Amino acid sequence: MSDVIAKIPTDLSIGGSWQPASDGERFDVHDPATGEVIASVASGSAEDATAAVAAADAAAAEWRATPPRERGEVLRRAYQAIIDRRDELAEVIVRESGKSWGDAIGELTYSAEFYRWYGEEAVRAIGGISMAPGGDKRIIAQHRPVGVSVLVTPWNFPAAMATRKIGPALAAGCTVVLKPASDTPLTALLLGEMLTEAGAPAGVVNVIPSRRSGATVGTMLQDPRVRKVSFTGSTEVGRMLLEQAAQQILNCSMELGGNAPFVVFGDADLDAAVEGAMVAKMRNGGESCIAANRFLVHDSVAEEFSRKLAEQMGALKLGPGMDKSNDVGPVINEGAREEIAGMVDQSASGGAKVLVGGKSPSGPGWFYEPTVLSRVDRDDPLLAHEIFGPVAPVTSFSSDDEAIELANATEFGLAAYVYSGDLAHGLRACEAIEAGIVGLNRGFVSDPAAPFGGMKQSGLGREGAHEGLLEFLETQYIAAAW
Ligand code: NAD
Repeated sequence: MSDVIAKIPTDLSIGGSWQPASDGERFDVHDPATGEVIASVASGSAEDATAAVAAADAAAAEWRATPPRERGEVLRRAYQAIIDRRDELAEVIVRESGKSWGDAIGELTYSAEFYRWYGEEAVRAIGGISMAPGGDKRIIAQHRPVGVSVLVTPWNFPAAMATRKIGPALAAGCTVVLKPASDTPLTALLLGEMLTEAGAPAGVVNVIPSRRSGATVGTMLQDPRVRKVSFTGSTEVGRMLLEQAAQQILNCSMELGGNAPFVVFGDADLDAAVEGAMVAKMRNGGESCIAANRFLVHDSVAEEFSRKLAEQMGALKLGPGMDKSNDVGPVINEGAREEIAGMVDQSASGGAKVLVGGKSPSGPGWFYEPTVLSRVDRDDPLLAHEIFGPVAPVTSFSSDDEAIELANATEFGLAAYVYSGDLAHGLRACEAIEAGIVGLNRGFVSDPAAPFGGMKQSGLGREGAHEGLLEFLETQYIAAAW
């Protein structure tokens, strides 16, 4: 085991102390690049979940009364700690999630920035006073922390999906229980420890990894002390949590699945579009909710676009992220690889042309080759699925209306990308697409200062920007006469 991994506490972090699971259960964490077990982590039980909620509840009054500036300074120190310990954290992320070194470093810069941004936003929960139209009273509207918050995160960005929730929650004055994905609990445990070192009082941030996510999260959502659930993960699980949250009428934020169209019009700068496509598809090896999932290209340039994209995809170096020269790591686990391979094979047998890739290389680890499929039929089942891997299917269209219709032919509405050399043309298309985030002539869209979230079945609420802070606040109106 590497020194960095060996030093991470592997018990549950509850109320400022490290504890084994109440029934002693543990689970293994694997390195997707080798399949090897790299750590064993305590698996929280329903009882532990209740203890974590109790700890968050006990710390709540003092934390909400802590001056916003002081709360912000905890986040600012946590930001600095991530920057100072970036290589150490990158190793943990690479080893448990399999991503490339460059992607891990990129994720950490992004993750840290949520702490810095919300460290600044902590002092901006600004309300207002106005005279009522009838002149009989003042309307005072002020924001208050929503209360104990349950945060549930996925494995694909083990640090960023946690800091994107912890940052605004702590800034708003909420205490939290974080349930990280069981594929990647180590980064979350280390981040929890770093927040304590940055000055978060005991109980403000509790971290409970668990293999029993249904039981732990379900128990917390039924606990009347909990007031909020913020979830990032699949639409399927999000839908289930919304049903559970309905019992206590919990405040809900949902960052769910995507099926992003990447639209290239005939008037686009094709080389820029290919460059953007590489970022939109291959950031995080394709394992991103905003990954370009369907390339919709005008038929006058579809063949050339596909060929150029295949050249660049074919040039990527596949291998373990701990070798910094590799561009693409393995996918998260064997099941994910089988699913991706199955989708590609089905598409190829349905008539799509495999321009590059299309195979699982032999040897250890859950690798899948960067793949480009051209001439994909618009009814191909592949286009209805979130691929979550290094596969780019290209479909052509012949008119703007057809492009928009294809782009919107999904229940998801998280991200979309549009390439056009004519700004007005591009903006019209952006506005016609039902997606919460649109990249116009850009493949990289994420920014802590921008509101991130989906329309349709991709979610509820926004993370990042001032909107992200409001997700952890509720408004109280006082009707005042004086
Ligand atoms: P997932 O839904 O399987 O798991 C997400 C989290 O929910 C994990 O912590 C998991 O342990 C937990 N969970 C699973 N079953 C549960 C249950 N029955 N009750 C309570 N909790 C449960 O998703 P994943 O495979 O970890 O992540 C991939 C998905 O996340 C993709 O669909 C991706 O698009 C989505 N995602 C969305 C965003 C976004 O911002 N919209 C960002 C990253 C990932």
